[in-house]
This record gives sequence, structure tokens and C-alpha cells, in this order.
Amino acid sequence: MLAVRRAGCTILAEEGDSKAMNFRKELIVADGKKVKLSKFDPDDTMGWEKGPKTKASLEKAIERLDSLQYLLYAERKHALLIVFQAIDGGGKDGTVRHVMAGVNPQGCRVTSFKVPSAEEAAHDFLWRAHKAVPEYGEIGIFNRSHYEDVLVVRVHNLVPKDVWSERYDQINRFESLLFENNVVILKFFLHISKDEQEKRLMERIDDPDKRWKISQADFNERKFWDDYTEAYEAALTRCNTTEAPWFIIPANKKWFRNLAVSHIIAETLDALDMKFPKPTIDVNKLKLQ
Ligand code: AMP
Ligand code: MG
Repeated sequence: MLAVRRAGCTILAEEGDSKAMNFRKELIVADGKKVKLSKFDPDDTMGWEKGPKTKASLEKAIERLDSLQYLLYAERKHALLIVFQAIDGGGKDGTVRHVMAGVNPQGCRVTSFKVPSAEEAAHDFLWRAHKAVPEYGEIGIFNRSHYEDVLVVRVHNLVPKDVWSERYDQINRFESLLFENNVVILKFFLHISKDEQEKRLMERIDDPDKRWKISQADFNERKFWDDYTEAYEAALTRCNTTEAPWFIIPANKKWFRNLAVSHIIAETLDALDMKFPKPTIDVNKLKLQ
């Protein structure tokens, strides 16, 4: 196995694997970039093809994730917060399931953000997000997040523009506070095309095992595709910071989406250069009673 160091991140690749790459570097939104989603191809696979090599690379990333999570837990210096955002049908649930398969559920908590409850709505919009931030040593996954407050809220004018427009800076300050307190933040936008969304919504109708997922809202929201695109572009542009970067994941191909997300999480944990704490006892003096 070969360890390649690029831009501070180590990636693991089989010797001679020409596909060895730094997913983080490839898919991170460039600092200061004005995002136009039409410039990002949701079908892109960066030269990867579905097959045994890809499967092996995915398995490797998942294994790596498992041992890095163990180290994160042992060291207890950092928390990792992973945010998933996507349009309906974008694959948030599938990606969460996939990531969870690679980590120990004891050190990981998933929070799904729904329409705010009465208690949540009675607080500032970041209250419920802050409450769900993982503790040191743990991984927290947000399935939707505080970004809904500049997405669905903006598209449907759930609060006036002068309120939601202030939220971009408020989110940046919130995420900056977390960063300064050793919370590592990764934000993934799962990018699918309108055609792929239609295909996935139709599958939910055709497949009896998927029908439970259908909601009229998903079909209604399709009418607002362009408004959502604009709202996402604003969030991806205005809330992309070095402290809490966005990644745009081409997500029409589920296998590529899973591959890219797993590698980016593993690369990020790797770059933390974590160490097991020193034992608190002298093991040589330990005696079995
Ligand atoms: P799902 O993820 O399919 O379970 O749906 C959750 C729903 O909650 C989506 O329609 C979101 O748009 C909605 N939602 C999440 N956060 C908010 C929010 N802050 N304000 C209004 N609706 C929200
Ligand atoms: Mg849904």
C-alpha cells in the first residue's frame, strides 16, 4: 500500500493504482468562488468506472474511516460534523446509510432536520443545530441542517427577505465558532439533475418498497427547481469558508457519490494527525490479581 501526501492530506492507494487521487482537493468549492450549478456535471465520475477497482477503493475508504473514528474517539480532541444537503431525491438518506455502514454507531449520531417543532420555532434558527453538534470524539451527521433556513425558508418566503438574508453571515459566524472549538465541519451538497430527480421520484411510484417515501410535497417542490437552484447557489457561495468548506458531489451515480463522500471524510480525519493518548498507567507495573 502506498501513502500519497498531497496538500496536507494522505490518501491510500494500491501501488500502481492510477486512480489514486485526492477527492477533497478535486471536489471542494474553491475559496471565493461564485457557484453556478450548471457548470457542475452531476454525471461526472472523475474517470472512475463502476467495477471491482472502484469497489475495492470504496471498501478501503470505509475501513480507513472505521480506524480513524476509533482514533477520534480515543483522542477526544475533535468532533466531526458532517452536513448533507440536497434537493428531494438527491440521496441524503442513502448517503447517510452508506456512511453509517462504515462507522461504529456508538460514536456517531444522525440528526434529521424536519419542519421545526413548536419548541424549535420558539428559538433562534441555530438553536436546534447547535444542540445537535457532536461532542468531542464523536461524529455527528446532519441530514438536512441549519441550511434549510436559507433554502426552503427562502424559496417559500417563510420569513421576510430581510430576515433570511442576514442568515448567511450568521451561519458563517456559527460555523467559525465551532471550528475555533475543534469541531471539524464538512458540508456535502449532493448534486443531481432534474431528469435524475424525475427518475427517482418515478421509481418510488413503481417500486412497492419505495412507495412509503412518496410525498406530494416532493412533487410540488419540483415546480420550484429553479428557485432551489438559486438558493443553493447562494448558500454554496456565501457560506463556503476555509473553516467550513462545501463540497459539490456529482450524485447522479450513487456508487460515485458514496465513493467520493467516504474518501473525503477519511482524508479529512487523516489530516488531523490524531494520536492515541498516552496510557495513564505504567503497563509494565500492571499485575493481574
Ligand atoms: P424529509 O427530509 O423528506 O423528511 O422532509 C423534511 C421536510 O422538512 C422538508 O420538506 C424540509 O424542507 C422541511 N424542513 C426542514 N427544515 C425546515 C425549516 N427550518 N423550515 C421549514 N421547513 C423545514
Ligand atoms: Mg423527502
